[in-house]
Amino acid sequence: MESFDSGRAPMPRNMIENNMFEEEPDVVDLAKESPSYPIDSDDVVYEPRSSRLLVRGLGENDLDEDEEEYESSARLLGMSFMNRNSSQRSAVLSYTRQHPSECCSMPSARTMVVGVLILVLVASMIMVICFLPGCTFTRGGCKKTIDTVYPVSTSGELFPWTELRLPVSVHPVHYSISLHPNLTSMTFQGSVSTIVKVLQATKKIVLHSSDMKIISASFDGKEVKILEYKPWQQIAIKFPDDLKKGQYVLNINYTANFSSSYDGFYNSSYVDTTGAKRVLAATQFEPLAARKAFPCFDEPGFKSTFLIKITREPKYISLSNMPKVKTSNLSNGLQEDEFEKSVNMSTYLVAFIVAEFSSVSKNVSKTMVSVYAVPDKKDQVHYALETAGKLLDFYNTFFEIDYPLSKLDLVAIPDFLAGAMENWGLITFRETTLLVGNHSSPIDKQLVTCVIAHELAHQWFGNLVTMRWWNDLWLNEGFATYMQYTSIETVFPELDIDTEFLSVRFRALAKDALNSSHPVSNIVSTPEQVEEMFDSVSYEKGASILLMLKGTLTDEEFRKGVIEYLQKYTFRNTESEDLWNSLSQVSKQPFNIAQIMNTWTVQKGFPLVSVKRNGTQVTLTQEHFHLNSENTKDSSLWHIPLTYVNNSCSTHSSCKQVFHLKDKTATLKLPGQVKWLKFNYRSDGFYIVHYDDEGWRVLNEALSVDVNILPREDRAALINNIFALSRLGKVSFRQVLNLMEYIGNETETAPLTEALFQLAQIYRLLDKRSELSLVSRMKSYIFHHFGNLMDSQSWEQEISMSKITLRSALLEMACSLDGHNCTTQAKLLFDQWLASNKTKQIPSDLMRTVFKVAAQTEDGWTTLLDTYKYSIYDTEKLKTLEALTSTRDVKKIILILQNSLDGSVIQTQEFPFVINTICRNLPGYLYAWDFVKENWDKIIKKFPVGSYAIQSIIMSTTSQFSTKTHLKEAQNFFSSLGDRGSQMRIVQEAIETIKLNMQWMENNLNTLQNWL
Ligand SMILES: [Zn+2]
Repeated sequence: MESFDSGRAPMPRNMIENNMFEEEPDVVDLAKESPSYPIDSDDVVYEPRSSRLLVRGLGENDLDEDEEEYESSARLLGMSFMNRNSSQRSAVLSYTRQHPSECCSMPSARTMVVGVLILVLVASMIMVICFLPGCTFTRGGCKKTIDTVYPVSTSGELFPWTELRLPVSVHPVHYSISLHPNLTSMTFQGSVSTIVKVLQATKKIVLHSSDMKIISASFDGKEVKILEYKPWQQIAIKFPDDLKKGQYVLNINYTANFSSSYDGFYNSSYVDTTGAKRVLAATQFEPLAARKAFPCFDEPGFKSTFLIKITREPKYISLSNMPKVKTSNLSNGLQEDEFEKSVNMSTYLVAFIVAEFSSVSKNVSKTMVSVYAVPDKKDQVHYALETAGKLLDFYNTFFEIDYPLSKLDLVAIPDFLAGAMENWGLITFRETTLLVGNHSSPIDKQLVTCVIAHELAHQWFGNLVTMRWWNDLWLNEGFATYMQYTSIETVFPELDIDTEFLSVRFRALAKDALNSSHPVSNIVSTPEQVEEMFDSVSYEKGASILLMLKGTLTDEEFRKGVIEYLQKYTFRNTESEDLWNSLSQVSKQPFNIAQIMNTWTVQKGFPLVSVKRNGTQVTLTQEHFHLNSENTKDSSLWHIPLTYVNNSCSTHSSCKQVFHLKDKTATLKLPGQVKWLKFNYRSDGFYIVHYDDEGWRVLNEALSVDVNILPREDRAALINNIFALSRLGKVSFRQVLNLMEYIGNETETAPLTEALFQLAQIYRLLDKRSELSLVSRMKSYIFHHFGNLMDSQSWEQEISMSKITLRSALLEMACSLDGHNCTTQAKLLFDQWLASNKTKQIPSDLMRTVFKVAAQTEDGWTTLLDTYKYSIYDTEKLKTLEALTSTRDVKKIILILQNSLDGSVIQTQEFPFVINTICRNLPGYLYAWDFVKENWDKIIKKFPVGSYAIQSIIMSTTSQFSTKTHLKEAQNFFSSLGDRGSQMRIVQEAIETIKLNMQWMENNLNTLQNWL
């Protein structure tokens, strides 16, 4: 899935990223919708998770023996059965064994006594498990049965299962699904015939189902009663006797309403250019919403085949994953489309659409590629078709496995929350991430290309080979993100994608530096936790560590290892370890890939490497880069493939040298004297480097003489790292400003945009605190250092991607700081555009800047609102919307907030984006915060708790707070949410970010007063 970044926020890329740096909200993957199943406390009859150990008993509905045994043991050892991922546990254990923390190398007598006691305790527990099967532990001792055991199903009968994960004794083999969506009554009827395989004798079948009314059900031809436990979206059938191993058929007939949020089988509507309202129905199942469309075993590990039939009115078309094999006329005037039986796949990848769409197609290798959109936008699909064709060719060659289906559809859905979704053979997109019209800039094209590249990569990574459970979501998302940059670099070199990927890595570091971050491969069990996995760590850190690994192997070893993995696990499920093993098989390197990579996937955060040089002796030390200084005891260690260059050879990749830093400290002996060293060549590694005073001084000095002594990525990384180190308190802000002195000589986009980004973060914090004098001095500082560059930018059409990225960042900043030259030019362009009746084109990468200046007048704002309402170009609409939100008139801001949540005038899918863009500016951000608080219940009906949309809304509204009062206010609000979101990880992140902002202000306000 590709998220649509409506503005992310962990410190501030979000505050400004769209604002300053890109035409579009960033391509970073976003989480999608899914059911939040808010577990209503009233519905939950049995005890909370933490106490389940004490109350689980063995009654008439015994678990299958093996499962029971495993579960009891796991629980007694304090593990969640949700984490069946034994290889991950072993990875953690093996990692720990390899890197004992130093203080443990010589255990004290006391430690040994405690250790022995623990061992005895664990051994006793294991013996109890072995010798007293069926015994459940309660405070009163061992009981054979206990009172509160299973949850109560809707009918009042006990539900035979107590876990969020389904039992593994029954697997689905094939689903035949018939659906009749009614786009008038907004309901659908379905019947599903599922062939299931019983692997172990069992008295029950448990599967998922949500928000549907089951009319009838039969099992092996006999009518059966369905029990439902709504809080966990599960249904079950109980049998009086054991079902023997073998295959059976389960039939279920049901009806349901279309989903009112953006997941499941949902209806969407839009107004066409004639003013008529059109409706359509589409699906979005990842991660947990296939169960809203048909009863199924809705976990990625339960792969099976699907045969789908859809009944529709003749005016619509229907699409699904596979090609259509036939259409039959039904007696009631309707038609039924039948699609080919699918390949073996996970439920979250199933998709179907009923709509009035136009399309264009072409053959690429053996695949018919088509792009669909609403008829009004049929002229905007050609770029996507060309791009998808080129990328499909690239992937077929790169992976040496042909895309396995005979068709591939890419569909722009008018109302869609995520950026895109990789449904096998039927990829769905937002209109802004697929359509390219006259008003699209090269930056818009870059976004569309990125999203297509990402989703196509998923057809292999995710669809062909799928993570077993959501804990390893990064295998899907990290890889697709990595591949999107790799493929574009090769196929579309003009898009300058390296600069984008570098910036993505910097933002991932910022997020992972927080205590609220999590390991790449993380234990997840609840639906909210599954939702929360769709974040920067799975996508961007995942991609970053793959880049680092690729740099440690040879390009060909990496590619061959990936092919080995894809071939070995085709149509199957995997865990992280499987990828490492495949790469190890082809690698000739003298190190163990799994051992290296486990240090990056099973612990959160990343290392700070400190470098101290004394002649040819270099002392290297690693520690956890923790922005939160409360965490002083931290024994995390990483295996870092540390790269470096020196003054005698520093720009070409052949200059790169590697040192494997595995321990806390190590000494590197240089072969001869050097003037300076720069570590983390091109910032390909996921770590930050700190030099001693002399180390920084010589780098500063060298850069001030000639910026070209280092590749542009290294210069950008020095800027990024020194700001990060100042946030950590390792360097003073004075040192930051020292490094920035070289920036006057800088000409490259990557370092300049990084510098602007970092300064803008600080500017916005000061602005929101109303530190008026510092705000004005910061403004002068920015104009002093960047003014010449800003003034020298052209306002004409420009082709070079790198120049466009730079100028849109510079001019966005200049106009937002009311730079006179900038606003004058912007007004001029807007007036010319109006005078030409909107026919004279504004260079599309400057459109947002121009519109934002125009939106500050009453007439300008009204004109833009009209443009927003009637434009059929979605990228133009989005830039216009952002301009509308930049108004300083709070009444207008409130109007936009209300409209976007209601979905009137502004589609609800834009609500997170609206919140984000309003919060970038001083006038509206407190209103947005109040609005979110006031309307929380309404918001979480549309956007599930934990989803990326919610993460974005929370960070946008709070990440610029830096005072005690606001901290208190945020804490009070979040704790008042209870089940409605107080447990989300993003809440911790928000609070942590506010505290860090406060701390930064405390430490640096004086320096700023003195030096700015
Ligand atoms: Zn994705």
